[in-house]
Amino acid sequence: MQKKYLLSEDEMPRQWYNIQAEMPTRPLPPLNPATKEPLSAEDLYPVFAEELCRQELNYKDAWIDIPPKVLELYKYYRCTPLVRAYALEKALGTPAHIYFKNESVSPMGSHKLNSAIPQAYYCKEEGVTNVTTETGAGQWGASLSYAARMFGLEAAVYQVKISYEQKPYRKSIMQTFGAQVTPSPSMSTRAGKDILTKIPNHQGSLGTAISEAVELARTTPNCKYTLGSVLSHVTLHQTIIGLEAEKQMELAGEYPDIVIACFGGGSNFGGISFPFMRHNFCGDKKTRFIAAEPSSCPKLTRGSFRYDFGDEAGYTPLLPMFTLGHKFRPANIHAGGLRYHGAGVIVSQLLKDGFMEAVDITQLESFDAGILFAQTEGIIPAPESCHAIAATIREAKKCIETGEEKVILFNLSGHGLIDMGSYDKYFSGDLRNYELSDDEIVENLQDSIDVDSLHSDPQDC
Ligand SMILES: *Cc1c(COP(=O)(O)O)cnc(C)c1O
Repeated sequence: MQKKYLLSEDEMPRQWYNIQAEMPTRPLPPLNPATKEPLSAEDLYPVFAEELCRQELNYKDAWIDIPPKVLELYKYYRCTPLVRAYALEKALGTPAHIYFKNESVSPMGSHKLNSAIPQAYYCKEEGVTNVTTETGAGQWGASLSYAARMFGLEAAVYQVKISYEQKPYRKSIMQTFGAQVTPSPSMSTRAGKDILTKIPNHQGSLGTAISEAVELARTTPNCKYTLGSVLSHVTLHQTIIGLEAEKQMELAGEYPDIVIACFGGGSNFGGISFPFMRHNFCGDKKTRFIAAEPSSCPKLTRGSFRYDFGDEAGYTPLLPMFTLGHKFRPANIHAGGLRYHGAGVIVSQLLKDGFMEAVDITQLESFDAGILFAQTEGIIPAPESCHAIAATIREAKKCIETGEEKVILFNLSGHGLIDMGSYDKYFSGDLRNYELSDDEIVENLQDSIDVDSLHSDPQDC
């Protein structure tokens, strides 16, 4: 009974998979908020490294070479193991075969490094000296700080205030790698000041922190902004997860019937799913892809497909996404990385076109699942990853009823060893679920824009 499947460094994929070149419906373009005209890669150059802008809007090349210097740093922790969760299967009494891709073995404890490394690399190549970003739980900020240090860049990170307080050690990790960390909203930017003036005890959100980091990038010479999720180039880099998993599933002699990942902006979900989904496009396979989002931030299951801003202050381009509205303020759940109002452009189009599904998971169900996983498979999962585990358990339980030996693959996006404060709250009974009324959802959506009202016709490719 082989427990885990490993690839040698030589077997590591040398290219990322760019699903935008093969999707049946190409995503709608990002728009300039003032003119409502589609943006080109050049329009994004002031904010992001130029190569990342080109990757963002590349609808042509299905495969993009991973630069040798990026491969070198990937080798610090990749390839990551694919593991068969025999003990979890047994505890559930399911005939399903459950596999997980263990991204928690990265030095920063999550998948986020897969994109932080190439983002820092392209910035360095283009002569950038400073990078800035926002971070929720601190996973992205830690990963960017690490990657910036490896390439000799200065990093400034705005951390969502609630997470800054709940997860103090992530700040210490960022500082270990030499980053400057500021709790957001802060008084150091106009965006932060505006929000604090209106709501003095604002707990922060990813949307607000993005506004602050983008403002800093725009007002600092030689400084670029980086993003840990949502954008298409981030998900592109994350496809290394699924490309490895595809080879490893082959070693296991199986192919997934269901692929599951938790969902914040969609990067780890897209990362593990897209390399398998490409076989669905041509009709070869009928794998189901399930995104697991928190019930308290349900953009996929209860949001609408509209043009909306990526940040609270409305600095970013308008993006066609499943959204709860950019002013939506998510409840203070412990899965900080899932507290975001919108979904990436690619996954939004795929959901609209029926290539994927979404489920919502309450905070308590997610921790129940995470604890069962820890007690069986021996790894304490990140609160975000607990959502994927909960969705996996639901599917595995269905197999008990039907007797089907389905092959389920989920992404363990990170470990929870720096999130033990949230486990403490669970054990002391202080964690709760958050109800969200339909009225609250409708109210926040009013600030986004109906796609049809812009008369931009979807381009089939
Ligand atoms: C950031 C994060 C997520 C959510 O981000 P996606 O872009 O949706 O993948 C999930 N899990 C962990 C551990 C994270 O750090």
